[in-house]
Amino acid sequence: MPNSIKVLNDKCVGCGMCESVCPFVAVSIIERQEHPKKFKLAVIDLNKCTHCGTCAQNCKFNAIELKKDAPNSDVDKSLYKGVWIYAQQRHGEISSVVYELLNEGKRLANELDTTLSAVLIGDNTKSKAQELINRGADKVYVCDDPIFIEFQDDPYTDVLSQLIEKEKPEIILMGATNIGRSFASRVAARIHTGLTADCTFLEIDLETRNLQQTRPAFGGNIMATILTPGHRPQMATVRHKVFKEAKVEALRNGEIIDFKVDTQTLINRTKFLGFVKNATTVANVSDANIIVSGGRGVGKAEGFKLLEEFAYLLGGAVGASRAAVDSDWIPYSHQIGQTGKTVVPKLYIACGISGQIQHTIGMSSSDIIVAINKDSSCNMMQIATYALEGDLYEIIPNIIKEIKLSRCNN
Ligand SMILES: Cc1cc2nc3c(=O)[nH]c(=O)nc-3n(C[C@H](O)[C@H](O)[C@H](O)COP(=O)(O)OP(=O)(O)OC[C@H]3O[C@@H](n4cnc5c(N)ncnc54)[C@H](O)[C@@H]3O)c2cc1C
Repeated sequence: MPNSIKVLNDKCVGCGMCESVCPFVAVSIIERQEHPKKFKLAVIDLNKCTHCGTCAQNCKFNAIELKKDAPNSDVDKSLYKGVWIYAQQRHGEISSVVYELLNEGKRLANELDTTLSAVLIGDNTKSKAQELINRGADKVYVCDDPIFIEFQDDPYTDVLSQLIEKEKPEIILMGATNIGRSFASRVAARIHTGLTADCTFLEIDLETRNLQQTRPAFGGNIMATILTPGHRPQMATVRHKVFKEAKVEALRNGEIIDFKVDTQTLINRTKFLGFVKNATTVANVSDANIIVSGGRGVGKAEGFKLLEEFAYLLGGAVGASRAAVDSDWIPYSHQIGQTGKTVVPKLYIACGISGQIQHTIGMSSSDIIVAINKDSSCNMMQIATYALEGDLYEIIPNIIKEIKLSRCNN
């Protein structure tokens, strides 16, 4: 039976709640003269409706009937066990998001009364397995071969898909990094399951063992909780810095399992030419405790030199809004926000950034926010711990002068 939705004429009072909450502008309210109390009526445009159910959930009068098709799946979910995380590494160095995934993965595994495993793919990476066990993994699957020395989508997808088909995990988490975003989507397509990208919150429904995968949607205006009810494994990529890192418990016991593949059978449609390290001398925003970030208000590429000097004096990194990145004043790797990085520094200094939701979603959990802006009414000045009203080209040089002066005096 396909999805169906209808308004129950006898219950609808035409209050308009469904119209205001519908994300797809699929509901309108019309007059109906024939009603004894002259109640209006909600009408759903089925060409726009996606059966998301937001209207039905919000209707106080139970006047919207939504029937959802049962998920079409032959998967025997009872065969799938365990929570897995993908232990992303580059040149033998584990990405810090992996430690965050281990922490969150452990919590989910405990709730599901199951084990937490990590998957390590690379060349000569086996020595890193104990590090993952010390951070909470019960098992580490290691797939070591010179062919995996650099991340490449095709062979990595082949090997992880084979491992998943053999071991059947219930949940797989990856970091929402450039690699994770590309890799997870290919694996999910290969093994015919769903994937929720960029999650910021995960929860388990213990009755169904469904993973409730929450992520910002519609430009960050709503939080959408997405389920994979009919397929297994349930796959999600998780934003960096959203969860705390797992603590180290030295010499924890765990199992290290070698997974061998016939590398002759792996297909690779790309050729790895070389690895070019980011040449910038400026610190990486993802790991910085202090970030000085610039927006459209900086006005020109040279303005970022001032922010670099400011950041350098504070021992921090330089971030940017998308407006500054789109203007080519600073590379994309510095962008913070919905389509950039999520950061949680101790101090975030927003210079000439208005604070639109797509930016604040990536930095609003910072411990202290300082806003420097000409417009005291803009959102960034409202959410800031300290709001400095004025021209950044007057305020920042003065602060830099004070810092230098105080250092000379000490
Ligand atoms: C799907 C989608 C994804 C997006 N993803 C992101 C994202 O990841 N990150 C992101 O940042 N944006 C993102 N955006 C864009 C976002 O909506 C905003 O357009 C952007 O954040 C605005 O950047 P801004 O605050 O620098 O510019 P503006 O909004 O133009 O603000 C400039 C500010 O500078 C102030 N100002 C001007 N001159 C000075 C001065 N001399 N001194 C002090 N203050 C001054 C102004 O008062 C103003 O408040 C996204 C948008 C969409 C639709």
